[in-house]
Formats: sequence, C-alpha cells, structure tokens
Amino acid sequence: MTDQASKETSKEGSKEDNMKPSVILSKPLYLIAAMVLVIVFVAVAAGYPNAYAVSIDGEEVALVESPEVAEEVLEEIILDLGKGREVALGADIGYKKIHSKDETASNGELSKIFKEHLNFLCEAAAVTVDGEPKVWVEDEETAERVIERIRKCFVPEGEIELVRVDFEEKVESQKGRVNAEKIVDAAAAEELLRNGKVKVTSHIIEEGDSLWTIARANNTRVKHILEANPGLSEDSILSLGQEVKLTKTEPMVNVIAEYNKTVVKEIPKETKYRDDGNLQSGKTKVIKKGEDGEKEVVYHVVTTNGVNISAEPVSKKVTKEPVAELVAKGTKKTTRANYTVASRSSSGGGGGSLSWPTRGSISSRYGYRGREFHGAIDIAARSGTPITAAAGGTVTTAGWGGGYGNQIVINHGGGMSTRYAHCSALNVKVGQKVSQGQVIGRVGATGRATGAHLHFEVMVNGAKKNPINYLR
Ligand SMILES: [Zn+2]
Repeated sequence: MTDQASKETSKEGSKEDNMKPSVILSKPLYLIAAMVLVIVFVAVAAGYPNAYAVSIDGEEVALVESPEVAEEVLEEIILDLGKGREVALGADIGYKKIHSKDETASNGELSKIFKEHLNFLCEAAAVTVDGEPKVWVEDEETAERVIERIRKCFVPEGEIELVRVDFEEKVESQKGRVNAEKIVDAAAAEELLRNGKVKVTSHIIEEGDSLWTIARANNTRVKHILEANPGLSEDSILSLGQEVKLTKTEPMVNVIAEYNKTVVKEIPKETKYRDDGNLQSGKTKVIKKGEDGEKEVVYHVVTTNGVNISAEPVSKKVTKEPVAELVAKGTKKTTRANYTVASRSSSGGGGGSLSWPTRGSISSRYGYRGREFHGAIDIAARSGTPITAAAGGTVTTAGWGGGYGNQIVINHGGGMSTRYAHCSALNVKVGQKVSQGQVIGRVGATGRATGAHLHFEVMVNGAKKNPINYLR
C-alpha cells in the first residue's frame, strides 16, 4: 500500500496536488497520507547534492562543496596577504552540512566573500604622523627605516655642515595589528608619506618653454603649476632640463633641513682701460692679462622638503685675490666702426667702455613705456644676427628666463653686468669666460617678444642703468 502511494505521488511530483485528495480521505487514510508526504519529502531532499553552509560569527555567508574547499581558499588568501606572517582572522568560521539545490560558490567568489567579511590581521607597525597611523609596514624596524630615509633624503650630498633636520610634524613608529591588505613595502610607504596618494606627473624644461606654454600644453593653469612647485614664481628663471611638477602633491610629512654650505665663487677680475691714440677707435688690446680671484662663501640654507626657503650668506673668505686686467682702448678716429649703426641712432653715445652688442636700430629706449618701465634698450635686428659681449667677463646665466626668453648675463666685475635677452641661440655656458666682442649668441624673439630684437640691459650693483651711458 505505502509503496503504491509513494509511486503515485512521485509520479505526480507536486506536494500541493497531494493535499487536495487527502482532505476527503477518512482518518486512518489521512494519517497514512501524512506519513507518505514526509517520506516523499525526505526522499526528494536526499536527492539534492550535499553542501555546506559557511558561517562567519554565526552569519551564513556562502554555500560550499566541502569545508576542505573553503579552508583551501582561506589558506591561499592568508598565504597571499600574510606573505608568511602569522595571520589572525578574529572571527569564528563554521560549517553546516545541508542538502541544497542552490549552486555552491566558486573559489573566486568565495575568496571575495572571505576578504569582505574577514579581517586578516597581522602584526605590523605604523608610521604615525601627529599620533595618527598613516602607513603600515612589516615591522617597527622597517617603519623606523622609512622615517630615517625620508629625513635624510632632503639633506643634500656633498660638503655641508648640518645644523638640523627635523620633521615639522611628530613622526613616530608604532606597533599594532592591521589588516594584511594595508601593509605596504618600505618604498611604497616612503612614496605615500612624501607625496600623498597622488600620482606625480612632471615636465622637463625644453628650449622655448615658459610657464604659460607648459600650462597650455598640459591643460592646466600657471597658478596650479606654481602651487605644485613651492619656491617657483612667475619670475623664476627656468633652466633647460629643470623638472617642473604638474601635479600638486600632498605630503603627509614635511622635512625642514638647516645647514651651512660653502660655495667657491669666482671674483671676476677688474678691467682697466687706458686710452691709446695709436689704436683705432672701437678696438682694444690687452696690455697686461688679469686673473679672476676666488672666494669661499658660506651660506646658511633652510629648506622644506628640499625646496630652498632661504639661503643667506653668513661669511666669506677671499682665497685668491683677483688681478686687474689692463686694456688699451683705441681713440684714433675711423671712418666707420663696426657697431656705429645703433650708436648713431641713439641719443649720442655715453662714451663708456661697453661695445655695442649687435647691429641695428634702437626700437625701444630705456625709460617709461606708458606705465611700464623699460630698464633696457631694445635693438631691432634680424633673427640670427650675432650678439657680442659688450665687455669681457664671466657668463653667470645662459638659459631660459621666462619672459626674457633665452638669455645671457655676463658679469664684468666691479659690480657691472649685462643681460642679452630673447636670443634665438646661446653660444656660451655658465661659468665661461668671454672677451669683449666675442659672439655669445644670436638675436631672436624668444620669451615675451613681439619681433626679433635684442633686449640689452646694463646693471650696476644690481640696478638697471641706461645702457646708452655705458656704450661707447
Ligand atoms: Zn626690451
């Protein structure tokens, strides 16, 4: 009888369909039908595959084929995250055998679920900034090493006398337990502390670059570039090969270094001129060769994250006295000297010792141009026209100078220097000695220039003077 009923119901398949006829059955039959139902249910359920419900702290999180499968996945995560360290899960994992027709989780899904629900805690050490853990590393020793590396990386190499190097913040190492996922290696920790969570992009200065062109090419603004480069201003002279950051970094720590640095500087020789009636006007001849001197200047330098905040000379010592050069200056009148074109167009030469740096007419005089003061003379000339040194001296600048474009500054000694701006080519290097009349570059229109011309400045003790008064 039971066998028959069982066969019938399994054929019918659905439990609900069985309920309807049972209602009208008499009592003993009703009981039998109920028993049959239970048996059918167990039989059908038993037909489902075995599975295990995984629970974390009592909460069911996944269905797996077997506890072994789950344990294997867990082991893999621990090995991967812990990298050989001891890992504490900080939670209870339970398995319950059930029958279910639901699909079990794949290894990948299971790994994700475990990572979401579990803390893989490891013994580690944090670098704390003002008491707050900022980055986590393997151990205290690594944390200390990271801190020391950051502290030291802003102290320049070479012969300096270190006064102090300190963090602006309270930076310490601290042991603790953290999710293994948060632990990074020393290099990554250093990078994070120094730059924050920003990917740093930068631009290397090439010929023709200015802050304006860099900003335009990189879809940013000069203002933002200046923010990203403390120490840089709109008037800063950019040199070829210099790195300019395009992204603002947010360092978690700031290192202040204070040190004394000795710099050997040249004392340019003085050039004395003596009129010589036997020599043609505009010509010079060295009578007695001079020699540059040398001095040691000690600067007290303060930097924040390697950027100079101040550099004050605190002492200097002359190690080699310069020897003045004696030069004969021709006074014999000639029909036409080489550089008289510009001279004639000027308001009369000042009879000074400087020679004209190029040929051409003066397109802009020294003095006020509307509201703007023009501390130079502009000599209009075709691009590529040679530029010559107005007097002998040492090149102190040769490179990109923002609005000045490619520029050269020559120190002539005795507090006098000259500037040649907007050049299309530079033929000299910083530190190079040049003699009067030597070709140093070519006329151009680099920087803030509307057309090809030479912007020629004469500076005496740093003050811009009217070049006309110094040109002969
Ligand atoms: Zn000018």
